[in-house]
Amino acid sequence: MLADLHSHTFYSDGVLAPAALIERALANKLTHLAITDHDTTEAFEHLDNIFESESLTLIQGVEISCLWEQREIHVVGIGIDRHENGLQSLLVRQQGLRKERVQEMDMRLQKGGIIGLMRYIDTLPCKAISRNHVAQFLIDQGVARSKDHAFKNFLGDKGRFGAQAQWCELGTAISAIRGAGGIAVLAHPNRYNISNLKLRKLVAEFASFGGEGLEVSYSNLDPNKIAHMAALCTAHELWASTSSDFHTPVNHWMDLGKFRHLPPQCAERAIWLHPDWPGRTDCRAG
Ligand code: AMP
Ligand code: MN
Ligand code: MN
Ligand code: MN
Repeated sequence: MLADLHSHTFYSDGVLAPAALIERALANKLTHLAITDHDTTEAFEHLDNIFESESLTLIQGVEISCLWEQREIHVVGIGIDRHENGLQSLLVRQQGLRKERVQEMDMRLQKGGIIGLMRYIDTLPCKAISRNHVAQFLIDQGVARSKDHAFKNFLGDKGRFGAQAQWCELGTAISAIRGAGGIAVLAHPNRYNISNLKLRKLVAEFASFGGEGLEVSYSNLDPNKIAHMAALCTAHELWASTSSDFHTPVNHWMDLGKFRHLPPQCAERAIWLHPDWPGRTDCRAG
């Protein structure tokens, strides 16, 4: 069992096409792969009749950006019915917010004498425009040295070229995922830059809204932090998920399937033991 339940294609801010992502999942010996693009399920529209494998099960997913106490939080939906109306209308709204946000960033860039963002965006296949794309544009223009530099100096909440989006509320994202038959999983809990106390509050509220899973082991998270996530997971009776949050082969520390196993205390709450786990039958094309 090697389940990577959080990954991106070029329909959001990853770099691979869905078929190439699956090829890489097969090469990396995954047994289960969830594609969870930001605010879009477009990747699955491009896989019919392409994917067929006995060794790998593809799971339909999505990663929704939302707000909790005015902070941006990400919730992954695992095993969703992507055709469900409530979920799709939420995703369309979120994609619209992403367009408006990038237009605002373009305006700020133009004021600073940097032109061409929208032309660059138009060349991309993405359905959900991300700050990650803007960061790449800033690198291409010689404005930023790296993605990290771009986010830290230009695209953060207080950055010169940054713009915020009024994402849906946490409870709305969870309800949409559940309404589409999916399991809602709190993504990368240690990346929100909040105190432990606040994180516990977030996880408690996430669970009270109907969230059922927590990413416990992901990409290069170290054993101490994994133990912390595992404790949170157990305390709130959530299911434990594993993920790379894969975007690009360049970030080799976030490659598909590259994360530590769940610690023993989570063995009985591994998400693949969830009664609604989709991995047995979902989306196995043939
Ligand atoms: P957005 O969803 O448009 O707000 O863009 C956020 C995305 O940018 C995340 O999903 C990451 O893929 C990427 N990202 C965020 N912060 C950084 C960073 N410091 N360095 C590189 N990529 C980042
Ligand atoms: Mn991303
Ligand atoms: Mn995320
Ligand atoms: Mn992600």
